[in-house]
Amino acid sequence: MQAFISEIVPAGSVDFSKDLFMKIYFSGCDFKCSYCNTPDLLETKFDHVVELKDIKKEIERQAGTVKGVLITGGEPCFQRQALLNLLTHCKSLKLDTIIHTNGSKPDVLKSLLKNELLTQVIMDFKSPFTKTFEKITKSQTFFKPTNDIMKDLLETLKLLRQYDEKTKILFRTTVVPGLLFRKEDFLEMAKEIESILCSWELKAFSNSVVLDKQMRNITRPTQTFLENIITYLKKEIPNLNVKIV
Ligand code: SF4
Repeated sequence: MQAFISEIVPAGSVDFSKDLFMKIYFSGCDFKCSYCNTPDLLETKFDHVVELKDIKKEIERQAGTVKGVLITGGEPCFQRQALLNLLTHCKSLKLDTIIHTNGSKPDVLKSLLKNELLTQVIMDFKSPFTKTFEKITKSQTFFKPTNDIMKDLLETLKLLRQYDEKTKILFRTTVVPGLLFRKEDFLEMAKEIESILCSWELKAFSNSVVLDKQMRNITRPTQTFLENIITYLKKEIPNLNVKIV
């Protein structure tokens, strides 16, 4: 079996754990976020085609060194069979398995969760389900309007709510001046996830690598700005497990 995989980092550090993880970058994504910091991974390219048996050998080689495997992208859920195949192999090696997703493919995520193939799900929670969502993700197509995409994401949240005791859930949101910065927007997002056993990380937009060159003119929000959002959210929903990273 083949897959579109652009890069493998054999044993790298990750920001959410002290342990080493093998990182596998799947290519292809259905969103086109203007602030995307992996623009080279948005298309599936011929030179990204790899044999999964070679990736599995590399996982076996690293199994004694790493705690687990983090599959990211791009959007890994685009390649369902390859994901099932690789994660099943990781499970047989007793490795932790983490997927980093934009949440747009609830059916794929469901099959992974149902088969107990994931230790953790990291979901980019882009925005509230309002007009801001399309502004950020530029995800609608001729075949799929934004409302249908947002319905899929709501389905993913429902799914994560069902599995939050078996699988660790982490949401991540990028705070972007001019796009996602109003405290009311964050409160609306908080209300969507407050009943999920999860943690939520807010991170400041960075203009060092971006898909849309115009985003280079936008400056990073200050730490104080982010702290004010957190203070507001905690006041409104005291039990919310939200922090700045
Ligand atoms: S930031 Fe957006 S466009 Fe980039 S990989 Fe993630 S979901 Fe896709």
